[in-house]
Amino acid sequence: MPELPEVEVVRAGLAPAVTGATILGVEVFEPRSLRRHDTSAGDFESLLTGRTMSTPVRRGKFLWIPLDGRTQAIVAHLGMSGQILLREPGVVETGLLRIRLHIEHPLHGEFWVNFVDQRIFGSMAVDKLVPTADGAPGGLGTDDALVPAQVAHIARDPLDPAFDDASFAAALGRKNTGIKRALLDQSLISGIGNIYADEALWAAKLHYEQPVRSLSRAKIRTLLSEVRLVLAKALAEGGTSFDAQYVNVNGASGYFSHSLNAYGQEGKPCPRCGTLIVREQFMNRSSHFCPHCQKLRRPRATPATAADASAAPAAPAAPAAPAAPAASVPGARKLRKPGDLTGRTSGVVPDIAACRAGVPELWPVARVGVSPTISASCRSARAVRTRTRR
Ligand SMILES: [Zn+2]
Repeated sequence: MPELPEVEVVRAGLAPAVTGATILGVEVFEPRSLRRHDTSAGDFESLLTGRTMSTPVRRGKFLWIPLDGRTQAIVAHLGMSGQILLREPGVVETGLLRIRLHIEHPLHGEFWVNFVDQRIFGSMAVDKLVPTADGAPGGLGTDDALVPAQVAHIARDPLDPAFDDASFAAALGRKNTGIKRALLDQSLISGIGNIYADEALWAAKLHYEQPVRSLSRAKIRTLLSEVRLVLAKALAEGGTSFDAQYVNVNGASGYFSHSLNAYGQEGKPCPRCGTLIVREQFMNRSSHFCPHCQKLRRPRATPATAADASAAPAAPAAPAAPAAPAASVPGARKLRKPGDLTGRTSGVVPDIAACRAGVPELWPVARVGVSPTISASCRSARAVRTRTRR
């Protein structure tokens, strides 16, 4: 799914061609791509024909192009697979073309702006512009404190100069959720999806389920700075490309996939410590993390109030420290049967933590829900240890 860097690449690519250009005509080939368009204001084609566009603006994963009069904008969301491609008129589009704008720029001539979307989770709409809640510019690309009505509930993104770090930290303190869920919550912080959440959490050495209320202000500052670094680096490399869906307006792919440390790297060694990166199910998607660098930490023992204590999420047992002898692994003796693992979503199986003391490079990373019998890799760890002793 395109995230902030990929959408920003599209915005920057469109800007020279659409800023000051006039819309000569509109063709809609797939009405479902207009499902976010409110027809009570007029139909999409007639609202746009003859209008002049100004510089495209982006907030998070939303892109909009203000129209003359500054009361309306074309709003685009790329969804899972949307692309906005700038084409010379007459070029045959190979992808699934949903909407086409015929535009003419006073200096550069005529173009087609093709909205291509394989899975139709993306959309285009004409929407009214409303004042921003904080009075700051609506997003990157404009000085106007205006935002499309359907984007008003979207939080600012961490690369936006008006993003308020202190408010974000305070909002996290009121949430009872894991850190990755919070990073994906577009009403808290926008522009981050699965790829850059996994990358930023890896960089900040945070487990994806770490309760946000257990994070210190310093850790939140570290995380935000890692989020910004990851996004800025991806932006500099033109975004991430795993397939032909992630392209700039010319159809070219980005290069950030060569820089990934955690996302999509399951089974490969963590670039920091060499432990194999693990992939776990998360919100119908997956999380990739290093089980050594990104351990789930127990929240600090004494919450501020009794209410906090009752609201605090039940944290799975923290994995054992690498060098700890097996006998000191918390909970290692409490796990009696496989059913004890029911409901666990992450972490290592405590019983096999007994195998972990000897040969770090062979430590098994047990997936939750499996039987806590000793795995093959764990047996091999034990065998190697036995040989070493001889
Ligand atoms: Zn690691």
